[in-house]
Amino acid sequence: MAGIYVHIPFCKKKCAYCDFISFPDYSREDLYFVALVKEIRQYAPLMKDRVFDTVFIGGGTPTSMKPGRLAAIMRELKNAFTISENAEITSEANPESADEEKLSELVAEGVNRLSLGLQSADDRLLEMIGRIHTKADFVKAVDTARRVGFTNINADVMHGLPGQTEESCLDTLRFLFSMDIPHISSYALILEENTPLYESVKSGETALPDPDETADMEDAGFLVMEENGYRRYEVSNFARPGFECRHNLNYWNNGEYLGLGLNSHSALRIRGEWTRFNNTDDLTEYVNELGGDKLPVRNTRTIPRDEEMFETVMLGLRKTAGLSRGSFIERFGEDPAVKYAPAISELELDGMIKVTDDALVLTKRGMDFQNEALIKFMDQ
Ligand code: SF4
Repeated sequence: MAGIYVHIPFCKKKCAYCDFISFPDYSREDLYFVALVKEIRQYAPLMKDRVFDTVFIGGGTPTSMKPGRLAAIMRELKNAFTISENAEITSEANPESADEEKLSELVAEGVNRLSLGLQSADDRLLEMIGRIHTKADFVKAVDTARRVGFTNINADVMHGLPGQTEESCLDTLRFLFSMDIPHISSYALILEENTPLYESVKSGETALPDPDETADMEDAGFLVMEENGYRRYEVSNFARPGFECRHNLNYWNNGEYLGLGLNSHSALRIRGEWTRFNNTDDLTEYVNELGGDKLPVRNTRTIPRDEEMFETVMLGLRKTAGLSRGSFIERFGEDPAVKYAPAISELELDGMIKVTDDALVLTKRGMDFQNEALIKFMDQ
């Protein structure tokens, strides 16, 4: 199983909490597009032995580019790589730019999953965190998406926002249930330095809910999603049966992926070695290096076997199905229940993990204190 990630670093306006690599500067969209196409073409011969099962076009806001751009990128990907017939192909979108023209072009090129950033169904909160869409824009985007053929739709939501209450959080989720959205990604706000929201909180102008309130919002939200037929299958991800995101599952299975575009990350087995690298996060460097037919790769690193094993544990335990013992044995020739027996014993005593015939699975307590649990594996 292998995936492709394509990064589109443009957004109409930066959200107040966002530190992703994205800019409200469309004057460089054309240059970026040309460079991205070059990158795709350069990787084509290097990836000819791989079959890709998922594609994820993320950002930024992919749908904020010029009409025709996403379709052209999809065509380039299909020309360059072997993408399996039943591949899951996702594009992210912002509700305000998910119009009929853009969504139709995605469907026409085989995109079959749409991930919409809603964050909250409370327009007042959306404005406060600098989102440029409203709840009504989301309704319109979903209606349009369904009309042009999307059935597999995700909504991203956030908790712990300034002024947010548990009731407001639950209202957002109930709204998504009423819209019959089959997949929900639910994240706690992370206050990132160098963002307007960070400055505003530090200056005392904006107050965030305290951590206990945020934890209560999370628990209440997770419970109501379970009650409404959404299964938590990863720390922050919930799906109706059959709608789990295959692209992200591949990350949590520590599978191979090729990242394309600014600051994208890759993990590939190259000549037998598990290898990670990333692209530059500087747009000028990205464009110039590809202009000179050079891949803008940085930080290439061969991962030692023990570290690859730990990565596989760390990522696998994010899933509620846990780390598959069979897959681990197939990959490393060792049973993780044996290799990590001392760490597992300690965690079992703490009620944080359980070991079944098939998997190592974190309990609810283990999920709540995941970092503490993982440190045991690291320290061993
Ligand atoms: S739309 Fe997403 S990527 Fe763009 S600024 Fe907002 S949070 Fe960041």
